[in-house]
Amino acid sequence: MSILKVARMGHPVLRAKARPLEKAEIRTAAMQKLIDDMIDTMSEYHGVGLAAPQIHEGLRIFVAALDAGDDDEDEAEPIALINPEITVVGSDVVEDWEGCLSIPDIRGRVPRAREIKVRAFDRTGARIELSAHDFPARVIQHETDHLDGVLFFDRMKSLASMTFLDEYSRYWRKDPD
Ligand SMILES: [Zn+2]
Repeated sequence: MSILKVARMGHPVLRAKARPLEKAEIRTAAMQKLIDDMIDTMSEYHGVGLAAPQIHEGLRIFVAALDAGDDDEDEAEPIALINPEITVVGSDVVEDWEGCLSIPDIRGRVPRAREIKVRAFDRTGARIELSAHDFPARVIQHETDHLDGVLFFDRMKSLASMTFLDEYSRYWRKDPD
């Protein structure tokens, strides 16, 4: 396994639009290794999602560990979504805290659609469609934004909630674990 270097805010790769993959590219050994390395990197840094531009690859891929919503204590099985296309369902918008491995030690409150559908390829090249709401929907929207060069700050209504991690843990975190 390889832990990849994570691009930090200010690196131009985080502001570029990533390119879609051809279906035939997805199953190549190189792409499968990239996906495995992204999953290892996300896990190493305790992220819940990681997009390819964050590891300096301008490709429309992200990995995420999305909780299936059961009471399982185990970490969610990571999935890879390729060329994701989001459709917002309904008009509910919820604001909640987000962080980003490319913006270390900062948190902020970001409004996101509560419910979405996402069409994508999975890592085998199969077409999939997922429905998601609340936290998993937030992760998918955050990661898909990375593929368009958008960072979570860009989506904040105001920067007033921008918080360092220590102060977030001290004043704002609901459930310290
Ligand atoms: Zn991010």
